[in-house]
Amino acid sequence: MIIIVSVIAVIAVTVLASLRFPWWRKTKQGLRVLCYHKVGVPPSPCLKDLWVSTDNFRKQVKYLIDNGWKTLTFSELHEIYKNNEPLPEKAVLITFDDGYQNNYTEAYPVLKEAGAKGNIFLVWNTLGKVNEWHNPASEPWVNMCTIEQIKEMQESGVFDFGGHTLNHPHLTQIDPEAAVTEITESKKKTEEALGRELCAFAYPYGDGAYDDRVRGNVIDAGYTFDFSFREGITAWPWDREKNTIDRLYIKGGDNIWDFALHLKKGGARII
Ligand SMILES: [Zn+2]
Repeated sequence: MIIIVSVIAVIAVTVLASLRFPWWRKTKQGLRVLCYHKVGVPPSPCLKDLWVSTDNFRKQVKYLIDNGWKTLTFSELHEIYKNNEPLPEKAVLITFDDGYQNNYTEAYPVLKEAGAKGNIFLVWNTLGKVNEWHNPASEPWVNMCTIEQIKEMQESGVFDFGGHTLNHPHLTQIDPEAAVTEITESKKKTEEALGRELCAFAYPYGDGAYDDRVRGNVIDAGYTFDFSFREGITAWPWDREKNTIDRLYIKGGDNIWDFALHLKKGGARII
């Protein structure tokens, strides 16, 4: 009896551990794009998924460097795509959505020190202000990067930038003309400020944040890459007609094993 109970207990623990850390998933080939938002200490425990601590971020960047991952900028990916080249072995993009000031104060020094590179999708009208699109009752306002900080990060070569609209709306839920303005004007204004072309755009909000019309608007605006919030690794060469570029959402509670599974398997944590 004791043996049977022990065997059942061992099986149960193994199954649970394998769902929590799905090591058995097939390793995938293709482009890995890590998706972060805020770095530092969350203002409330309810928001811990969206905030990765500076310490964890440093460990994750160290993991990438120690394991031979090559961190690319949007511009570097653009060159590879334009020239129809294969991806460098172990290519990964570190991306941040929205442009929070903690990307400058917390993430930038970590990347710089490690010799790694990152990319930020900017919400143009919020630069130098706060994340006004959030309801402060559920997600407190925090400072966004200033244009001076963006310029400093660009000049350092550590960060590259992409578009994320003017005001962070649900693009499928606003007037179609307003959606075009959000996409094209944010590109134009950011390009004027940075003195260079933007090649990458990320749709605000999660799955269902775009449709064929909105995707067409992004391509018509002159963006080469459009990034969704769908979890996964994108096959390379990228089939632009068919798919957006997927990402790997790194959450505040992820430990280094979760991080490694995201990178290798394109996902972690089934439970
Ligand atoms: Zn966003």
